[in-house]
Amino acid sequence: MLSPKPQHRPDAGWRFDNSYARLPAAFFARLDPVPVGRPQLVVFNEALAGLLGLNADALKGAEGAAVFSGNRIPEGAEPIAQAYAGHQFGYFTMLGDGRAILLGEHLTPAGRRFDIQLKGSGQTPFSRQGDGRAALGPMLREVIISEALHALGIPTTRSLAVVTTGEPVVRENALQGAVLTRVAASHIRVGTFEYAAARGATEELRALADYTIRRHFPELAQADNPYLALLLEVLERQASLVARWLMVGFIHGVMNTDNMALGGETIDYGPCAFMDAYDPETVFSSIDRHGRYAYGRQPQIAQWNLARLAETLLPLFNGDRQKGLEMANAAIAGFPETFHRYWLAGMRAKLGLANQEAEDAALAGDLLDRMHRHGADFTNTFRDLAAAPLPENSVLGTPDFAPWRERWHARLKRQPDSREVSRRRMTTHNPAVIPRNHRVEEALAAAVERADYAVMERLLAVLRDPYRDPPPHGGYHLPAPPSDTPYRTFCGT
Ligand code: AMP
Ligand code: MG
Repeated sequence: MLSPKPQHRPDAGWRFDNSYARLPAAFFARLDPVPVGRPQLVVFNEALAGLLGLNADALKGAEGAAVFSGNRIPEGAEPIAQAYAGHQFGYFTMLGDGRAILLGEHLTPAGRRFDIQLKGSGQTPFSRQGDGRAALGPMLREVIISEALHALGIPTTRSLAVVTTGEPVVRENALQGAVLTRVAASHIRVGTFEYAAARGATEELRALADYTIRRHFPELAQADNPYLALLLEVLERQASLVARWLMVGFIHGVMNTDNMALGGETIDYGPCAFMDAYDPETVFSSIDRHGRYAYGRQPQIAQWNLARLAETLLPLFNGDRQKGLEMANAAIAGFPETFHRYWLAGMRAKLGLANQEAEDAALAGDLLDRMHRHGADFTNTFRDLAAAPLPENSVLGTPDFAPWRERWHARLKRQPDSREVSRRRMTTHNPAVIPRNHRVEEALAAAVERADYAVMERLLAVLRDPYRDPPPHGGYHLPAPPSDTPYRTFCGT
């Protein structure tokens, strides 16, 4: 008699160890993702799977579709929705994973720990009015932009897979549903601390702070005041992160405190986009009507968010609340200087400078002012600095930039490096390609409207090598043709 062959599933290589699920129960709700009808794997990041020590071959087909849709829970996972709060556009709200499930923490062969989170995985106790689902377009957008940031050398969550669900999600129109698998150093947010503080249970707050220190900054446990050291370290990382965003013209778009991760990664790609013409007031998000999260305001907003974090930590700083407040104020007041240090280091590298002079910030500021006046393309103008000879159509060749270029050439001569060494430095700090908005839209339209993923794959291939010299064929480095309507982005709901 013939018996059905037992289905053999090759080992995908998961190695879960779920420390977050050991925190006090108030920090999460245990539940599985809501299964989907017809999961189909449309994006799978094999390189990232390799870095994680996963078996790409085992996850490429039906197994990947099952696991990355939430239909099958991999062995060792302990699915939870995380609780958190947050200031959204300045207003405090209780939130939580309304459409995401943390499967657990996967340990790589080298022992690094990563959250494996499904986004768009169905309703949770934190869904409020939402359907718990995500549309395909915004999930693919997260893939493109997060991979671009990673390749630019900017800390970010990564995108491992996208599965279409075969089910519609209803927004203004019916859209295709999708689930994104997000890989993160953790999902501990400023909003997670706000949640703990709002509950008023100091022991829960302490458990979260101790956990964060253990997970991200174990060396701080030895500090005189580990909680103040935690705040200072998070501040340092955010200052560095936001400076890096500014160096490539990135606008996060929705820097609510629930979208700021303590591990220092860029997280939550909703209405984010890259600026073309340099203007510090650039805003793309359709809901950011007052420019709260404009390009040039991002440092101040980071500081504002860090102040919210500091407030939550007050009970841990010092038994004497007044003393604690003074410590917090002093720490937060140091942000502008810390940020400026990173900004200036980034700008020096962009200008090809290795040594330091007192006038360097003014030199950079003068260039930016001229770029602003001329509506110069941010990416290409900096890239042109490294070119010899200067490209014919470069704005840098126009008379208004002549005095600046003279000053800059003189400055370059006051460092020991050869022009060639400076040029190489500029090439590795001024990307040739960023995800240009029209190219992102083109890739999303092909995928969403025609199930053609080749356009996106080509774009991703280019974005994965952003400093390439000379730039790739295909016009990926060109800004969008002039248009009457400004580019607008929408929150990824
Ligand atoms: P975001 O703007 O993506 O940072 O989301 C803000 C909050 O809204 C988070 O708590 C999300 O989980 C929640 N949320 C966003 N979209 C949905 C949805 N479709 N269903 C349920 N919750 C959602
Ligand atoms: Mg969010």
